[in-house]
Amino acid sequence: MQSVPTPDLAAKTRLAHERLNDHYGIQAIYGRADPMHELVGTILSHRTTHANEVTAYRTMRERFPTWEGVRDAPLADLIDAIQTANYPEIKAPYIQNMLTHLIRETGAANIDFLRDLSTEDAMKWLTDLPGIGLKTATLLLLFNFQKPVLPVDTHVHRVTQRIGAIGSRVSAEKAHALLLASLPADAGVLFNFHKHFYWHGQRVCTWYSPRCGECVLRDMCDFYAAGGTTILSSTPVRKKK
Ligand code: SF4
Repeated sequence: MQSVPTPDLAAKTRLAHERLNDHYGIQAIYGRADPMHELVGTILSHRTTHANEVTAYRTMRERFPTWEGVRDAPLADLIDAIQTANYPEIKAPYIQNMLTHLIRETGAANIDFLRDLSTEDAMKWLTDLPGIGLKTATLLLLFNFQKPVLPVDTHVHRVTQRIGAIGSRVSAEKAHALLLASLPADAGVLFNFHKHFYWHGQRVCTWYSPRCGECVLRDMCDFYAAGGTTILSSTPVRKKK
């Protein structure tokens, strides 16, 4: 499958990025102060709301104040502590396996050393951890260590597919490589790209009911031009009731 964007698609990606920069305004990079909080919080955040993630994290840290305590907690107790996050029975073993591996490899539950690694080495190190995928690794490396990577979550994936910056069957993993190749390797640029497409997907280009009438990308949008009929891998077909 294609891993380098055509010049037309790269130009479209950059034009959409400029439009959303104008629309939402340029942001300075920000992230959680503690990279370990970001790492574990991102695991907790999968398929749940921000409020539920925050409650799960806070309850877990109150019951197990050290990371060694989280690692060694009886699994049922950790599942109970993070129960407000969806799928606690899956997330709890992920967190414990990750902590076990991290502490065994480095001697501490501390990932600040990633700041001094190259982007490629830091990405490989993180994605070799049990339960850490491309999305979690890119969020952590961009937000906390200002590495030039691009988190492609469900909103970034859907909006870039709808406008036609990436193909309709391109996976989120492949989208990461294609979009990166279209943009400067600059953490500030990539942070704004991620934030703006995320916000646009949340607020305007929503899964069920995109508000195309108020969209600043409408004139360049393939999905709009096709009357909203394109089948996309990022957007399952809505079931009829
Ligand atoms: Fe999404 Fe509609 Fe905007 Fe296209 S025109 S990006 S489908 S909101």
